[in-house]
Amino acid sequence: MNLFKLWNFHGGVHLDGQKQESGRAPLAVARLPERLIFPLQQRNGEDSKPVVAPGDRVLKGQAIACDDNPVIPPIHASSSGVVRAIEQLPLPHPSGLSGLCIAIETDGEDVATAFSGNPGYRQCSPAELRRNIHEAGIVGLGGAAFPTSIKMAAGTSRKVDTLILNGAECEPYITCDDSLLTHYSEEVLEGAKILLHSLQAERCLLAVEDDMPDALTALEKAMNCGDFETVQLVRVPAVYPTGGEKQLIKVLTGREVPARGIPADIGIVCQNVGTAAAVYNAVVRGTPLISRIVTVTGRGVKRPQNLLARIGTPLSDLVRQCGGYTSEAERLVLGGPMMGFDVPTDDLPLTKSVNCILVAGRNELIGEKQPLPCIRCGACADACPVNLLPQQLYWYGRSDQIERAVDYKLFDCIECGCCDYVCPSHIPLVQYFRAAKGKAIAKRREREKSEHARLRFESRQARKEQEKRDREESAKRKKLTLGASKAPEIVEAIERAKLRRAEKAGQASRNSDPTAKKQPEPSGPSAVKSPDAGAAEPGSAERTSVPEAKSPKID
Ligand code: SF4
Ligand code: SF4
Repeated sequence: MNLFKLWNFHGGVHLDGQKQESGRAPLAVARLPERLIFPLQQRNGEDSKPVVAPGDRVLKGQAIACDDNPVIPPIHASSSGVVRAIEQLPLPHPSGLSGLCIAIETDGEDVATAFSGNPGYRQCSPAELRRNIHEAGIVGLGGAAFPTSIKMAAGTSRKVDTLILNGAECEPYITCDDSLLTHYSEEVLEGAKILLHSLQAERCLLAVEDDMPDALTALEKAMNCGDFETVQLVRVPAVYPTGGEKQLIKVLTGREVPARGIPADIGIVCQNVGTAAAVYNAVVRGTPLISRIVTVTGRGVKRPQNLLARIGTPLSDLVRQCGGYTSEAERLVLGGPMMGFDVPTDDLPLTKSVNCILVAGRNELIGEKQPLPCIRCGACADACPVNLLPQQLYWYGRSDQIERAVDYKLFDCIECGCCDYVCPSHIPLVQYFRAAKGKAIAKRREREKSEHARLRFESRQARKEQEKRDREESAKRKKLTLGASKAPEIVEAIERAKLRRAEKAGQASRNSDPTAKKQPEPSGPSAVKSPDAGAAEPGSAERTSVPEAKSPKID
């Protein structure tokens, strides 16, 4: 009996789990492939940088690509061999694009580097544990592949009281977490304790759906045998999408993650159960993340089952190990039928984020019927776990009114596909939302680019004007300094020179006056110049006709 109080979230749907085929078969270890492929891009964003070159021999567990950026965890070789190439190869991504990958030809020996674990992790500080987790290349194994050390670091600036381990595997067909909890329950529980220590949190809630009896039994057994009183096992109802991070937090705690916020804002950090096991392996055993459990299933594969496979294994090898394709095989989907994406080929590698290889038969999955016009029934809004209005988002997305769609919280959509599932008109709503998000992001980048260019231009102008002002200021200062530094003798000399120049100019002006030349040479005492020497005498007609000589200007 579940004595833990649970809350409900809005919407959600009950789905046919389709988990029996892969869940019933025993977990198998995948064969060592001849070739391993490691894309340098692990999430959307920057690539890791290779630290090996073609021709290099590498060992299992050796770092082959890393980066100084803490958001980019290192990549490790998952077996020994020789680096054959670093080249562009198709990526397991919805875009279908290629990216730079390291290709290793395995040698069949599977020789590993020396792993050194630390069972006494309690002596380590949270920062040391986060570094350990980063160096082991651990990312969220629930599908998002977000770097685990970064998620754990969110707890350093906020008080985290609860760690949630997400074992609510709510998507149909996928059973890899069920298998992990059944076979590696102790690793998961020990991983929970390490994560709790790293977060300095008080309790861990381990959520498992009530339709996973084997996992529940294994966990209960392990908990009875060990010291796990800080971990509480909680059965949650198998309603899709209970395993969504925000929905699970609501179900277990009643708390709501604020829009644009993260769980740490409300004192919670959520990790996938596979991530917890990977943390245990990294910290206690010293093993980096080089393998994961993946579900291979669908009507298009002969023997659906879970495989413990090396990261980098080609998908074609994994399908072959499950008996190969049936004649029904039509679609290859990575992830589940609700949130997964189609890929055009199986010549792609298994990455840390791939939890399921779904080979679907004809009409096995939703979204394959001819869409009809929207009848505004509102079923999509009733099913939406985020309380959105999918029909409005669809309308704005379709008519390219992206800003309006953003106003209607387009980016809050978790692409769970509940609206698609219930739509009586079979409209592929999520496809429209993904496309609208892509357009909105492209527009935002465009705006940021032009804003950046504008700011650059303005700052260049401001710099030029400042330089001009500085130059003028400096010239002014120089002039003042020069004036102030002139000695009195120099000033007198300058004055004398000015006076001389003025006298010369006056003399020249008088010499050039033709009337002045005609005047008789003065003799006797009258030759002495008097102030009124040039004045006209009364009664002298000749004198009165002489124009008055102008006084020379003295500067
Ligand atoms: S469920 Fe489909 S038909 Fe009904 S309102 Fe939503 S989009 Fe329209
Ligand atoms: S896909 Fe988006 S809009 Fe549709 S139900 Fe899920 S969260 Fe709501």
